[in-house]
Amino acid sequence: MSRERRIGWVPQEYNEMSPEELAQRVSFAKSQLGDRLTILGHHYQRDEIIRFANYRGDSLELSRHAANTDSEFIVFCGVNFMAETAAVLCSPEQVVIQPVEEALCPMAEMAGRHQAESTYQALSTVWSDSVIPITYQNSTAEIKAFVGEQGGAVCTSSNARGLFEWAFDQGGRILFLPDEHLGTNTALDMGLPEEALGVWNPLHPPDPAEFADCRIVVWKGFCWVHTGFDVEDVAQARADHPDALVIVHPECPRPVVVASDLSGSTARIIQVVEQAPQGATVYVGTECHLVDRLNDEYPNKLVLPLSRRACGSMAMTQLKHLSYVLDGLLEGETRNVVSVPDDVARSARLALDKMLQIG
Ligand code: SF4
Repeated sequence: MSRERRIGWVPQEYNEMSPEELAQRVSFAKSQLGDRLTILGHHYQRDEIIRFANYRGDSLELSRHAANTDSEFIVFCGVNFMAETAAVLCSPEQVVIQPVEEALCPMAEMAGRHQAESTYQALSTVWSDSVIPITYQNSTAEIKAFVGEQGGAVCTSSNARGLFEWAFDQGGRILFLPDEHLGTNTALDMGLPEEALGVWNPLHPPDPAEFADCRIVVWKGFCWVHTGFDVEDVAQARADHPDALVIVHPECPRPVVVASDLSGSTARIIQVVEQAPQGATVYVGTECHLVDRLNDEYPNKLVLPLSRRACGSMAMTQLKHLSYVLDGLLEGETRNVVSVPDDVARSARLALDKMLQIG
């Protein structure tokens, strides 16, 4: 089988190395590269990766680090849209590397540029106010570029509400991509009535006239991890630990958010666990690598997954992949470089700058 057809390919010698040997190689490469290297690790990455990250965070925090670092090499351990965002935000002299190029976010792949353009045009025919597209950070650079060209913005789960308020202050109505649930939860939490909200299925585009009275139309995309939680999980958690706090990510479906005590971004979830009193039990409805890590880091609290759900795309990156790309840098070879065409990057940057300013 050719290299191109194998996901997460590394030379065979890396498959045969022990975890200890790989860890030593990564430590050595980091010490040799010093400030020339910044490793960014998303909270959903494996522990074997997170222990080597210079910064760990959610997508907003890591975007800020990517925009602010002077390092020559940014190794982004996450999924592809995050590495693309780093490539858009950093300077042309910097190189962004993704240890597993094939680690794509399924949700981000649910919205294509042509679909978004035709939806935008369809809504423009029935809305007298301007259509302001807002895309979740979990989208391709092509979608971010489209949004930037139309005067819209990127948001994360931390600042979606702020961006929605910004769009309404402009006198516009919102086309939100690609996560139905984050869009729905944000709109309803802001107090919008359900009838102000429409769901656009790009696989069966509806008659835009059905959405004439909507103030927000959300794309019918979803996260495989977070849509897997259900209200029975919350009921079971409450039955097992009646005093526990239940917090879920806003990518969860609305009934799960309503049944829980709180919902919030990854950064908010971490803050809630930090601030919970000693001896507290907290159930968390998000990716289980983060939940397990929180449980380890707060030994005087019990942090439990609402149910065990892992992101297969995030889990693709293993120590052997990190070691392989870092060894390449020591040898003067940049492996698995992520780049975005200049015209796409320029437009995407417009939308990302709004996120960084307003967020
Ligand atoms: S957890 Fe969900 S949104 Fe995040 S990368 Fe995985 S599939 Fe995408």
